[in-house]
Amino acid sequence: MSALAGRDVWVFDLDNTLYPADHEVFDDIGERMTAFIARAVGVDHDAALALRERYFNDYGATVVGLVKHHGVDAAAFLHDVHDVSLDTVDPDPDLGRLIAHLPGRRIVFTNGGRAYAHRILARLQIETAFDSVFALEDAGLTPKPERLAFERLIAAAAFDPARAVMFEDHLRNLETAADLGFATVLVGAASPPAPYVHHAAPRLHAFLRAVLDNQSLTAAPASPSERG
Ligand SMILES: [Mg+2]
Repeated sequence: MSALAGRDVWVFDLDNTLYPADHEVFDDIGERMTAFIARAVGVDHDAALALRERYFNDYGATVVGLVKHHGVDAAAFLHDVHDVSLDTVDPDPDLGRLIAHLPGRRIVFTNGGRAYAHRILARLQIETAFDSVFALEDAGLTPKPERLAFERLIAAAAFDPARAVMFEDHLRNLETAADLGFATVLVGAASPPAPYVHHAAPRLHAFLRAVLDNQSLTAAPASPSERG
């Protein structure tokens, strides 16, 4: 945990970091995106799916490509596609308690829309663990991994990235974060696959428990035997 020592701004990605989005909800959102694109651009389902994937890969968020190339109303798109049932998402209050114990500030930083982020955090029962949510609209529709997205977060939340930790499931987002001075944690990985990944967290809960144990050890006074 040495890369995390002394850091007190904890920044979390949302999808596939704070909950498993390889999930019915994500499929539903994806289907709604494809249908929206088909309607807005006037193409069939397969062409819409191809555009959706291409813009996600090219820009980090499908909506960015739709605004740029088709003049789609970002707010209407984000509202429409995230209007899905969250009934299949399991609440995770244990995770909320762990995050709430991290000393300092806790922030969600997502390429997803603001309304969806708040809905899913509420459904997970972890919303109160966070001081703020910085969503795609807050970044001016500039998604991670663009440096500008991180710079806007840093400016809005007013912190020094040398004091911050970024938790993410997407490798490419951690490269920018590390470059800016964040300590980085790749969630869902067994080991760090690149030099700019400082820690791997196969399971976020276990990793946070270890961080908190480590902090209490560091913060605890020396034991009587050590004092001699
Ligand atoms: Mg993610």
